[in-house]
Amino acid sequence: MSVSQSSTAVPRRRAVGVRIGGVLVGGEAPIVVQSMTNTDTADVAATARQVAELARAGSELVRVTVNTPEAAAAVPRIRERLDRMGVSVPLIGDFHYNGHQLLAQEPACAEALAKYRINPGNVGFGRKKDAQFAAIIDLALRYAKPVRIGANWGSLDQAMVAALMDENHARAEPWDAARVAREALIRSALESAARAEELGLTRDRIVLSCKVSGVQELIAVYRDLGARCDYALHLGLTEAGMGSKGIVASAAALAVLLQEGIGDTIRISLTPEPGESRTREVVVAQELLQTMGLRAFAPLVTACPGCGRTTSTFFQELAKTVQEHVRAKMPEWRIKYDGVENLTLAVMGCVVNGPGESKHANIGISLPGTGEAPAAPVFIDGVKTVTLRGEHIARDFLGVIDDYVARRYRARGAEHMP
Ligand code: SF4
Repeated sequence: MSVSQSSTAVPRRRAVGVRIGGVLVGGEAPIVVQSMTNTDTADVAATARQVAELARAGSELVRVTVNTPEAAAAVPRIRERLDRMGVSVPLIGDFHYNGHQLLAQEPACAEALAKYRINPGNVGFGRKKDAQFAAIIDLALRYAKPVRIGANWGSLDQAMVAALMDENHARAEPWDAARVAREALIRSALESAARAEELGLTRDRIVLSCKVSGVQELIAVYRDLGARCDYALHLGLTEAGMGSKGIVASAAALAVLLQEGIGDTIRISLTPEPGESRTREVVVAQELLQTMGLRAFAPLVTACPGCGRTTSTFFQELAKTVQEHVRAKMPEWRIKYDGVENLTLAVMGCVVNGPGESKHANIGISLPGTGEAPAAPVFIDGVKTVTLRGEHIARDFLGVIDDYVARRYRARGAEHMP
């Protein structure tokens, strides 16, 4: 995917770059969008189909659950199927409890995955924990794979929590319980990373995350974590929830951290509505980065909210049609035209702010509000060029957009043409 960063780039926290398949996370790389499947990984066809959907929507890394021998055996077959489909997105294996066994028993799985994700809170228990953690790191070394050490609020290492509670009791001014829990989460990740390094895994093969489900807690945890290490950080609000709640909570937490330069790869952990595409989480992640000016993925439509001056639904329909049109065109445009993801569009409901906002976009249309003359002036790069009228305003406006893209953006590879 073509990637561009805005000129209003936010200074980023310095993080060691980690190569995951062909994708760099951290270092000088732009913030990477990732997602996770919700199919049964043992179902090769369904999982490959969903990975492809996520990748085509713009997910640059895709994580799959690897929880059983059947799932582990399916991973190389999913990889082969994706390769045949022309989908090269790196696959990440998500392991809990039995990762050391599955990776050892299925060498083809260990090879096919581009990264292993483990949770230090449930990599093993009691005396087995250290040996099982070491076994996974040993496999990562053998197959030259990076590892994400992903601590999670919901599966904290209880031995670590107990030790910190004891430490806290001895303090002259004990911390509150929330701070102790935060510290446990961060130490779990940092101490596991230090152990992985002792075992030979270099820092350019380690990504860290410390996920919680509360917005303020996530911000506090990552500010602290980011200040205490230079590992690449995976950022996400775990169990964000469904619909607008999940989107708002994720955006609220991640926006604060991204604005502070914290976070090298993000995932939006949305619960899909029944029947909703899994790709929604990818679109939300892209739109979060794009609206913050951190990356550009696809042209976004600026539209006014409408009001009493827009009494027909035509205005909403046109805004939706335009956004869907550019999203549908992006797979083709991305290949053909350099920089097209930076195109800006405006669909405005009436003369009050319509012409002004339309002039700020590359292409804007100011529709007639209630009682206005039935004419829709179109502005291109700030200049009024044509006025659309009649039944085919939507079709004609899409034509204006397509023409502009073909004229304005340099065809990819054109510089190599004779
Ligand atoms: S541009 Fe016009 S229609 Fe849109 S919100 Fe403003 S006044 Fe209402």
